[in-house]
Amino acid sequence: MHTFKINAGIPSAAQPLGGWEDPQCGLRGHFVGHFLSACSKLAFADRDGWLKSKAEEIVDIMAACAQPNGYLSAFEEEKLDILEREENRNVWAPYYTLHKIMQGLIDCHLYLHNVTSLNLALNLATYIHGRFEKLSFWKMDGILRCTKVNPVNEFGGIGDSLYTLYDITGDTRLFELGGLFDREYFIGHLEAGMDVLENLHANTHLPMVIAAMHRFAISGEAKYKKAAVRFYEFVGGRTFANGNNSSKATEYIAGGVSEKSEHWGRYGMLGDALTGGESESCCAHNTERILERLIEWSGSVQHLNHLETLKYNAVLNSSSAQTGLSQYHQLMGSGAVKKFSDPYDSFWCCTASGIEAMSEIQKNIWFKNDGVILVNALISSAVDWKERNVRITQVSGFPDKLTSTLKIEATEPVSFKLMLKADAVKAVTVNSGPITFEQANGFIVIERMFHDQDKIDIEIDANMHLIPLQGAEGIAAVMYGPVLLARIGPNRPVSGLSERNLNHTIIKTDRDRLAFSIQHNSDDEALMIPLFRVEEEEYTVYLDLMEHAAEARQFTYAIDGSKAYKEEA
Ligand SMILES: [Zn+2]
Repeated sequence: MHTFKINAGIPSAAQPLGGWEDPQCGLRGHFVGHFLSACSKLAFADRDGWLKSKAEEIVDIMAACAQPNGYLSAFEEEKLDILEREENRNVWAPYYTLHKIMQGLIDCHLYLHNVTSLNLALNLATYIHGRFEKLSFWKMDGILRCTKVNPVNEFGGIGDSLYTLYDITGDTRLFELGGLFDREYFIGHLEAGMDVLENLHANTHLPMVIAAMHRFAISGEAKYKKAAVRFYEFVGGRTFANGNNSSKATEYIAGGVSEKSEHWGRYGMLGDALTGGESESCCAHNTERILERLIEWSGSVQHLNHLETLKYNAVLNSSSAQTGLSQYHQLMGSGAVKKFSDPYDSFWCCTASGIEAMSEIQKNIWFKNDGVILVNALISSAVDWKERNVRITQVSGFPDKLTSTLKIEATEPVSFKLMLKADAVKAVTVNSGPITFEQANGFIVIERMFHDQDKIDIEIDANMHLIPLQGAEGIAAVMYGPVLLARIGPNRPVSGLSERNLNHTIIKTDRDRLAFSIQHNSDDEALMIPLFRVEEEEYTVYLDLMEHAAEARQFTYAIDGSKAYKEEA
């Protein structure tokens, strides 16, 4: 909170953080917003009193730092003057940071019922409204048009936060203010069916889709749903095997992040996208949120599978299991090494979104609808289904073992439909006996009267398959069910590897932890393990099936982004 206090003229002798929270960095304050969201979500989910008091302490300091006009930030108000004057120069995404602060305050209200935090968020919204009502149509268009590569006027998901404030209060002024951030240059073109993604900054525009989907949920305006559905088709042509997107732009500023990362290129052309700057972690978290809404609309097994792929291979993969520190880019090319954030001197966007992602890692394993409960991922977890007065506990050995068991706890017999994804199930029994079930649209549907202590045993089907790199011949990643594998050690070609010989070439080793060895003539028994379990080892995700893989390319530019932006300024 040091920079918030200094900015408000309140003395602080604290040792400042470094990186993107440095007292001189334009993005300072962004991490605190995500951290407040993370504290609120964890305190709610785990009933953790210490984290609850931590969240309340942050809110109280924020209340002391808030200005009478509602402004609340760790950087000077003048940054917004500069944005309005210069539009896309000499600032670093001030509304992006205000969004993080506003959403942190909203989450503290939603999860912990904090009243002060809601008032601070509403006052900040009033302040933003006051700024925007003074701007001409074209000035507003200028500061909210993020079509340049490396946009420094990125405004994040502030529209989505304002729609949430509308949901809470019913104040239509908040709905209208949120609507200012639904930009026609993006949403309008998507609605018209135009793929306008090439050269846009990915994590600037993913939150705009989230806001559009939220707007549809409020108003039912078909335009916003249509735009989001089309967006999902277009981003599919920029999606890697880990389910995530973002890479180099096709036109870029030399030396800028667009040269190697954070943007979208041409549809279906990822052949030169493994720059070492691919797959920004923030994009995974935001793509997850888009999929959550899509699943509400479609209930489709394809959307659920994409969400599961993201969970293992881009969300879990974003953090170190040993330290909890997060990756910025998630490398998948030849000879990659993970680079995790420094505890006090990084505070990248992805450190912030990453810490929030770890506070809701239990999400999206289970889904429910009226009388239906669906298991999306075979991950050990428990669900309290209050409407049916039933608790279901899942104990899974996946991915190391191919078994998962669901146990029912219910005070009285209860009838419901239990849905499983058919591709993930080899066999299923209830209380060790065979059962009849329906199969439709990629799901197994078990409808029956369940009793206390009923036990559902699932034998998991996890087939090996290749995911080709779009637009590149002879380069593919290997997946085991929903889990993306990484080859450990130096990359060597695995010529001739195909779907047909996959099971003979990549052999599961007989261990308690999932591992494979590549049995190949040019190879000395290379090891493959889940990507999300790689820590310090050199690894490769996209294998060279035709002896033409690119050289290892390490990329650190975006990680030093604060310096670059400062120099630009
Ligand atoms: Zn990021």
